[in-house]
Amino acid sequence: MRVFRKHQHHKRDSGFLVIKIQERFQFCRDWYRTGEVRAMVEQYYVVLRTVLRARTELRRCVTRCRHCRIFFLTHPRNGGRRDLRCPFGCKEAHRKRCSTQRSVEYYGTEEGKTKKKIQNGKRSHGEARADHNPQFLSAPQLERDGVRLDAATVGYVRMVTSLIEARRVSEEEIVEMLVRTMRQHSIARRRRMDYVLAYLKKNAP
Ligand SMILES: [Zn+2]
Repeated sequence: MRVFRKHQHHKRDSGFLVIKIQERFQFCRDWYRTGEVRAMVEQYYVVLRTVLRARTELRRCVTRCRHCRIFFLTHPRNGGRRDLRCPFGCKEAHRKRCSTQRSVEYYGTEEGKTKKKIQNGKRSHGEARADHNPQFLSAPQLERDGVRLDAATVGYVRMVTSLIEARRVSEEEIVEMLVRTMRQHSIARRRRMDYVLAYLKKNAP
């Protein structure tokens, strides 16, 4: 039971940390080495180390991002690979860049030019609002009780949680857990903020 609770704790911590860290992602090599994100990444590494101490077989799933070099857990089928991009943002940034590239190439071809003309024509007639140009497609999102979550992040947290708990964890479960944790943290943050404001008021000159 204790082990179970310990894992529950890690699950919440690591899932929440992944989201918090990802929110601060910037597409540069040392994005996680400075500022407030640095402390979060240190915390995330502590969780990661604790998990790896308890589950040594997962050590082969640890890899580093080929772009920014941050450590993360990957699926066992990718164990040992050194060419992966991190789930914090490098992977997504790369995906966007490739799709922009593909789109630029495609609209440069005869077929692409014709298609674009048709699309533009439709648009000027007020039809077909959906833009099929992939460079404008943002990452898919999930929404629950007013909280928006990045689908790829949920997928990553789900994969890691399944590894840590050695069972299949559903997307539903992860979304619920993340929404609950984010709620708790935002309540805690609000309380801290109220406290700070009350303190400032009391001690105002
Ligand atoms: Zn990275």
